[in-house]
Amino acid sequence: MLHAKVVTRFAPSPTGFLHIGGARTALFSYYFAKHHDGDFRLRVEDTDKKRSTEAATQAILDGMDWLGLHHDGDIVYQSQNEARHKKIVLDLIKAGHAYPCYLTPEQQAVERQSSRDAGRAFRSPYRDGKSPPDECPFVIRFRVPDGETTLEDQVQGLVKWNNKDFDDLVLLRADGTPVYMLAVVVDDHDMGVTHIIRGDDHLVNGGRQKLIYEALGWDVPDFAHIPLIFGPDGKKLSKRHGALGVDAYADMGYLPSGLRNYLTRLGWAHGDMEIFTDQQAIDVFSLSGINKAPARLDFDKMAYVNGQHLANTPIYAIWKYGQTFFEAKNQGPLSKEQHSRLQTALPYIVGRAKTLIDLADQAYFVTRSRPIPLTGKAKKTLKPDAKPRLDDLLILLSGVLEEQWNHKIIQELLTSYIEDEGIGFGKIGPPLRACLTGGAPSPDLALVLDLLGKPETLARIQDCLDIFYKNNEE
Ligand code: GLU
Repeated sequence: MLHAKVVTRFAPSPTGFLHIGGARTALFSYYFAKHHDGDFRLRVEDTDKKRSTEAATQAILDGMDWLGLHHDGDIVYQSQNEARHKKIVLDLIKAGHAYPCYLTPEQQAVERQSSRDAGRAFRSPYRDGKSPPDECPFVIRFRVPDGETTLEDQVQGLVKWNNKDFDDLVLLRADGTPVYMLAVVVDDHDMGVTHIIRGDDHLVNGGRQKLIYEALGWDVPDFAHIPLIFGPDGKKLSKRHGALGVDAYADMGYLPSGLRNYLTRLGWAHGDMEIFTDQQAIDVFSLSGINKAPARLDFDKMAYVNGQHLANTPIYAIWKYGQTFFEAKNQGPLSKEQHSRLQTALPYIVGRAKTLIDLADQAYFVTRSRPIPLTGKAKKTLKPDAKPRLDDLLILLSGVLEEQWNHKIIQELLTSYIEDEGIGFGKIGPPLRACLTGGAPSPDLALVLDLLGKPETLARIQDCLDIFYKNNEE
């Protein structure tokens, strides 16, 4: 169908967090709308009053905000449209597409069985004008027409159902409240939604909803039912697999841009495009790139993609997302000096990390407070014969001018020292690294010295001599 303006929507039920599967559906809807200069709307489907909570609504909004999924227009709360839903049901009754059904639960069970015996879905005898009993609660059911329903799904292709397999579904419950199947159609229509992109667990609902659109004489939107995400083992995604809220991924040190890229690429492809920005995804996104087969979550790939985004993120933004991780590693806020050392070091080490947790580990050696505790492994490198080497290096390094304190000059100094002494690098590298990092992960040694700066380097070597070697004198 041709549309004047593309409108998509994300329609979560607020019964939990923003699950990554939901986040991916939202991303697809978002990119599709933006690709067509359209609107991406948000509707909170809070009609199930028992299960919907304000905390869950807030968690979903926070998750979308963190992920950078900005919706257009006001949020629609489905529960606020109840009067409109009821009015539409009345219209359907008037037009003969819906009818009151007075069956008690017991009678319904009997009818259900006889519908089954007749090889069709549930039909109520009240659809054919059976006279109602006195004072009996009733529901309003949709009168499913005879024939066939077809849906030209943008992902699944042509899907056909025989209408006799569709129940005469309830539109209004006995307490007068509308059901999801009706509310969704009315709201999508009223919001001008042109493309419904959602999980393929709703595919059959698509067929049922199409019948309601047709009964109302409304344009039927395009549907794209996307396969669900499976766990790495190909089984249904469970919590153990990572079926968590996006907030859990934020806590694991993923960047919003990294998670966005990974989730978008999960089940959607455009040529060999693997790492992309938001704008690049908007530029090329199309429903035809969505895979029909379910995607499998792959944590290694997720980490790889995130690492690429980390490497491409400006340092000020890394600080914005990483601050809590650096502070957690430091067990408290960073001092001005620690912060400035970190800022100097980040461009050199960011390419080695996959997540912000990883980055905080990689950066820890620069922010550590003196005197630095040594790991058992680090201690083992501090053999007695390393002490005179460290004494020498302390003197040599003290002679380097602050303005010449850089990676290259330090490397030359270390190389000429081992050459002059006729020793291998193994005699000085590990002990020096132990003093400077305590055994924390670290890059190339000369770079470690460069990033720590002269005063901190000398102080850490001195600490090693004063504390470790003093305590371990024979
Ligand atoms: N509220 C429904 C859900 O969370 C989605 C309905 C829809 O997208 O049509 O599963």
